[in-house]
Amino acid sequence: MQYPIHPSQRTQKAPTKRTQRLLQGIVQRPSPNFNERGDASVLFLMQHYTAMDTTENAIQRLCDPKTEVSAHYVVGDDGTIYQLVAEDKRAWHAGVSFWDGHNSLNSTSIGIEIANPGDVPFPKVQMDAVTALSQDIIKRNKIRSLYVVAHSDIAPDRKQDPGELFDWQGLASVGVGVWPVPVQRDIDTSSKWTDADVMQSLNKFGFVTGQDLKTLVTAFQRHFQPEVFKNPQQVGVADDQTKARLACLLRRKAISNGLLARKKRLAGSAA
Ligand SMILES: [Zn+2]
Repeated sequence: MQYPIHPSQRTQKAPTKRTQRLLQGIVQRPSPNFNERGDASVLFLMQHYTAMDTTENAIQRLCDPKTEVSAHYVVGDDGTIYQLVAEDKRAWHAGVSFWDGHNSLNSTSIGIEIANPGDVPFPKVQMDAVTALSQDIIKRNKIRSLYVVAHSDIAPDRKQDPGELFDWQGLASVGVGVWPVPVQRDIDTSSKWTDADVMQSLNKFGFVTGQDLKTLVTAFQRHFQPEVFKNPQQVGVADDQTKARLACLLRRKAISNGLLARKKRLAGSAA
């Protein structure tokens, strides 16, 4: 039996003229803060916000050798895309990090810093640029939808970016990342989950072990249930919707892992 996947997540449209224009207009602002990836290849796309007052201040900080931080791209609040580090180099944006069995994600990720002080809505012109850039990175690097991550996903005890105002649902609707749309089966699967089951499911989905439940539920909600941040009492508490969305994502992950394994088998038998 097939379970529904959001139709918009099945296909990616061909780039529009506007997308091409955006990508052709990328401004080079090289940062010295990078090293070699070594044997690692790109698996992840990571979204951040800069938590700085202006785009220019953020770029200067990410280009200052003393800070030892950088990202591959910065997207300004006016939609301008800046490239600081080449994609085949290892930019320094993730820090101590973990997702789905992978450590130290600087080696295996491409990082986008989105200019935002942290508490203001992202302008549409900026999100259009983030979308175009992300689609292009995902396509060229063959990044799995489930591996489009937030800094807060991979460092849940330290980081909150790109925050609950970031439009993950909108991005998923155009092929950037995943958005959970639970079906009855997900609701049934998760309805009797205890705290221990929720913790186990969060770890199975990708979150690091050894954190307390509230920290991980908060991080999960920041990405996949941002509406709870309007009511602080709900933050960090796994309600029915949190559980159903998590069950949905685990089901999607199982399908995706199955497809990936099959693809590898086929590639192996063809070789
Ligand atoms: Zn960050």
